[in-house]
Amino acid sequence: MARRHPWIYDSAVARLDGRARPGDTVTVLGDSGAPLGKAAWSPESKIRARMWSFDPDAVIDHAFFKRAVAAAVARRATHPALVGQDGVRLIHGESDGLPGVVADRYGPVVVMQLTSAGADKWREAIVAALVQATGCAAVYERSDSEVRGREGLAPVTGCAYGALPEALTIVEHGVRMQVDVVGGHKTGFYLDQRDNRHLTGQLAAGRRVLNCFCYTGGFSLQALAGGADAVLSIDSSAPALAIAAANLALNPQLDARRAEWREADVFAALRALREAGERFDMVILDPPKFAPSAAHAERAARAYKDINLYGFRLLNPGGVLMSYSCSGGIGIELFHKIVAGAAADAGVDGRILHRLSAAPDHPVGLSVPEGEYLKGLCCQVG
Ligand code: SAH
Repeated sequence: MARRHPWIYDSAVARLDGRARPGDTVTVLGDSGAPLGKAAWSPESKIRARMWSFDPDAVIDHAFFKRAVAAAVARRATHPALVGQDGVRLIHGESDGLPGVVADRYGPVVVMQLTSAGADKWREAIVAALVQATGCAAVYERSDSEVRGREGLAPVTGCAYGALPEALTIVEHGVRMQVDVVGGHKTGFYLDQRDNRHLTGQLAAGRRVLNCFCYTGGFSLQALAGGADAVLSIDSSAPALAIAAANLALNPQLDARRAEWREADVFAALRALREAGERFDMVILDPPKFAPSAAHAERAARAYKDINLYGFRLLNPGGVLMSYSCSGGIGIELFHKIVAGAAADAGVDGRILHRLSAAPDHPVGLSVPEGEYLKGLCCQVG
């Protein structure tokens, strides 16, 4: 609290005066009894309350959400890396002063995800504020993240405003991508990697590329757009690969003969490629969250080490490894250590060309360092 951190854990709550139902607004008092601000009450969660405001006089009402949502949208509207983008995260939870609220815009559609009791309670106000701030045609709710369970909240999905268009596509750095907001991961797309996909394209010319955990082909298509010789993309999800292939077809400017999609487990596929003596000039590793929290860090570290070791082994001299972790439980320093250890075990010399993170529509609140989940290293070997 003193550091303006928005979470109050159950162990920090001495008592609740009166009654509060899930999501109700409570006034937070410090040890001395002085009011510190307003928070949303989450009786089922270890994070027992989340601050809406550090102003003790703040009124949490429809107007509060209207202001907060409009401010978050306005911050994106002027950032040069975001102006003109079809796919933009408009609200990034705590970092935008709205704990438990995520909103992503894909062209005319906003996809909203509410993950805390407080956010859930103010659904109507948040939807109205999003419509007003963006003029969108539809707000689709994807509140089906498993973290809602920790708040005692059931999943909620469906149109909260308007209707979805039959097909939804966005253009990202010149590449058209289909977004499956109903069945896709998260809100349908990994917007956080937008600028890193662009960098891949810039480095891909003339290279043979291996894209592991390709999902709907974002990195693969940017590599093709950047002039890659060939791109082999691997994912274990058949539906994701079907969209990836459809995305390639949506981009007639790309040479489809240079792309190959493979449904496989990456851990096994990397070994098979190595045994077959295959070599690449660029390897991309963008796995799912191996360590959702610090408790999983050790096992996750072994998994990251394994894929990075094989990634390095498959590279030609001069090759580039783009390696990511979106695990909150693996810090930047540990991730550097894992990647460096993998290079050493692979017997290669390498250097970091770029330290990478999420795009600027996924900001990290200065008081919420745990918001920095995505980290990446672009390394060149040989
Ligand atoms: N790079 C993508 C996002 C990757 S998300 C983008 O820019 O859009 C992680 C992906 O890993 C998902 O598509 C998931 O289906 C896939 N995945 C998870 N475990 C896997 C495994 N063991 N082998 C292959 N793919 C896996």
